[in-house]
Amino acid sequence: MAEEPYRYTGMHIPGEYEGHPRSLLDIVVIIEEVAARGKSPICNLLLELAGLGTAAIVDGGNEEQKKKYLPPIARGEAIGCFSLTEPGTGSDASGIKCRAERVGDGYVINGRKRYTSGAHESSHVILFAVTDPNKGSSGISVFVIPTDTPGFSVLERVKCIGLRGHQDEELLLKDCRIPRENLIGEEGRGLHYGLKTLDETRTTLTAGFIGLARACLEAAVEYAKKRTTFGKPLFQRQALSFPLADIAVEIDAARLLNYKAAWLHDGGMKHTVETAKAKVLASKVMLDAANMGVEVHGGFGCTERHPVERYYRDARIWSFAQGTPQMMKFIITRDLFGKYKM
Ligand SMILES: Cc1cc2nc3c(=O)[nH]c(=O)nc-3n(C[C@H](O)[C@H](O)[C@H](O)COP(=O)(O)OP(=O)(O)OC[C@H]3O[C@@H](n4cnc5c(N)ncnc54)[C@H](O)[C@@H]3O)c2cc1C
Repeated sequence: MAEEPYRYTGMHIPGEYEGHPRSLLDIVVIIEEVAARGKSPICNLLLELAGLGTAAIVDGGNEEQKKKYLPPIARGEAIGCFSLTEPGTGSDASGIKCRAERVGDGYVINGRKRYTSGAHESSHVILFAVTDPNKGSSGISVFVIPTDTPGFSVLERVKCIGLRGHQDEELLLKDCRIPRENLIGEEGRGLHYGLKTLDETRTTLTAGFIGLARACLEAAVEYAKKRTTFGKPLFQRQALSFPLADIAVEIDAARLLNYKAAWLHDGGMKHTVETAKAKVLASKVMLDAANMGVEVHGGFGCTERHPVERYYRDARIWSFAQGTPQMMKFIITRDLFGKYKM
């Protein structure tokens, strides 16, 4: 009898909804290998959507929502997307303006969203909107909206510097009516579910950064062994080999930080700060490795002859996803100064 294929899209989904659940530590190992060996962050992005498009439903959804939206994703037949960012706000998630007004037994949603990765291919969107403008971040709720709902459209798909195959997708919600049962959890708990999702998916994203840094380092090492200048291979020049040694150290350090975050998660402990620390270091080493990948290849590194030019473009954009390095430092300093009561 043929063995059933393992479906990576079900890694975040409980078994009762046809998922193939794995620990977060398992998932970060898998994601790093996909990025390092597949060398295409777009595969990672699809795996990210398997978490981004489901985690709020797994955490806060009711039984009906779970039965309806999770199995098709676990089977690899559908993807979902996650829509928080807006044209007017990215880092400051509490500043969103998209509005969900209670009308009768449902909601009418109006507003714009940006950077909703994978929206045009998704069967549903996990969308954040303001239900009570007087309550600040406690007035934000989260909804699951099938993308064929009238009033929902993908307005524009803007090409990016890297991560080709992915675009900055802008959404328009115009008098988009949804029934009350599309609310996830309770009104006002949207950011709670959003930030909980991001704690998990930021950890897996960080594993992707580490994988891409490895791909850059491997390409640089291979080239430095083959290319000779002034009668010696490049790897014998410490001006090049020492920065590569620094990158090798930081890749291992970032991986250990990220494993710690995943391990805390699997033990049911909070890991927002640990994930932020891992993401700061992983972003830095990914960008350094991408830069050195090109540097070692010299002028040829800037041509399509070598994959390092693509790694460079991919790394440049990828580091902003799910909270920029500065926002990660904000999380770390908030913890530091809170702890030491400065
Ligand atoms: C590849 C990719 C995929 C993405 N996918 C999604 C998705 O699926 N869904 C979604 O909702 N969003 C998505 N995003 C959006 C992403 O979450 C935002 O880009 C990110 O949160 C930053 O927001 P911004 O781009 O608006 O930058 P801004 O918030 O405008 O910040 C601009 C710059 O200023 C810095 N900055 C901002 N505030 C401060 C401060 N107080 N102190 C110091 N520096 C500051 C930032 O670090 C950044 O460098 C994606 C982004 C990328 C690049």
